[in-house]
Amino acid sequence: MTVLVFSENMEVAAELLGKGKELAGELGTKLAAALLGTGVKGKEGELFAYGADVVYVVDHPALTPFFPETYADALAKVVEEAKPEVILIGATKRGKETAPRLATKLNAGCAAGATNLRIDKEKRLLIAERPAISAMVVATEYSKTKPQIATVAPRTFEKPPRDDSRKGEVVEVKVDLTVPEKKVLELKKKEVKGIKIEDAELITSCGRGFRKKEDLKMLEELASLIGATLGCSRPIAADLKWLPEDHWVGLSGHKVKPKMYMAVGISGQVQHLAGMRDSKIIVAINKDPEAPIFKVADYGIVGDLYQVLPALINYLKSRKG
Ligand SMILES: Cc1cc2nc3c(=O)[nH]c(=O)nc-3n(C[C@H](O)[C@H](O)[C@H](O)COP(=O)(O)OP(=O)(O)OC[C@H]3O[C@@H](n4cnc5c(N)ncnc54)[C@H](O)[C@@H]3O)c2cc1C
Repeated sequence: MTVLVFSENMEVAAELLGKGKELAGELGTKLAAALLGTGVKGKEGELFAYGADVVYVVDHPALTPFFPETYADALAKVVEEAKPEVILIGATKRGKETAPRLATKLNAGCAAGATNLRIDKEKRLLIAERPAISAMVVATEYSKTKPQIATVAPRTFEKPPRDDSRKGEVVEVKVDLTVPEKKVLELKKKEVKGIKIEDAELITSCGRGFRKKEDLKMLEELASLIGATLGCSRPIAADLKWLPEDHWVGLSGHKVKPKMYMAVGISGQVQHLAGMRDSKIIVAINKDPEAPIFKVADYGIVGDLYQVLPALINYLKSRKG
């Protein structure tokens, strides 16, 4: 019996290993990780360094390019070998496609997008908390079948400290994988300008408090003065299309955890908070003192952003000389 962790993204795998270690400790089992792909053999060290005791490797040409069906097949084989009680899968785009397919194969339940995980020791159950009904409530779920699967969004849990001296057991899993009857005709790398919002340490984020697209220049200027990345609420990206979706923060956007998140003209509805409330320091600028964003803010300025932002920019410029 083990706790098994999988993400094709090593950063996310490390975060899951951190949480997985805690759950494995509660269950008194080993912590295992699955390493899937083509030419991945020999890359187990990264997973040991973040806490895996055992790494199950499936190195197969059919695992490139990515097809969720093939990954689910490979993972099902790993599950046969590892016999995990709990499986944690990174809720990356690929993970979100793979996890339900694996759950169906195993006839197991899957808590999607868990934001907290714990063990009921007596019943040996994984208890998952996740936002439900447009994040209006936190649902507490467990599945009656085993293994219990949960997907977890990037940045939900802290990455544990890396320990390169850690070693572990490598298990090679042989699988007969068939390539699905689909062809990838072309792969185009998505162009990302600047830092990816999930990796940003400082974020200045805009909402519907801005009257027109041109006014975002103020926020861009502030961002460049402090070295921040631009974020936004859903209406700015999805409805008004003033910024690309890469900047969208929230339940249906990106989950971020920067050192500082500045929400400017954002009301702070639960769906927005779901993506940024774990930021270390939250600063809010809003003209409505009752705006919900102030409930989660560490520092708040009640004021008109059209006065506050120019004042901030002038102050920062004067300090820079
Ligand atoms: C299933 C579902 C998923 C969703 N997912 C997301 C998501 O991922 N991310 C997200 O952001 N939203 C999401 N939403 C939408 C969310 O419910 C809100 O509608 C949205 O976050 C509101 O965006 P906002 O704060 O920019 O706008 P508003 O709620 O309109 O707030 C604008 C704020 O600006 C302030 N303001 C106005 N003028 C000024 C000024 N001159 N100076 C200072 N302040 C000013 C106002 O007081 C107000 O608080 C989702 C909704 C649903 C149903």
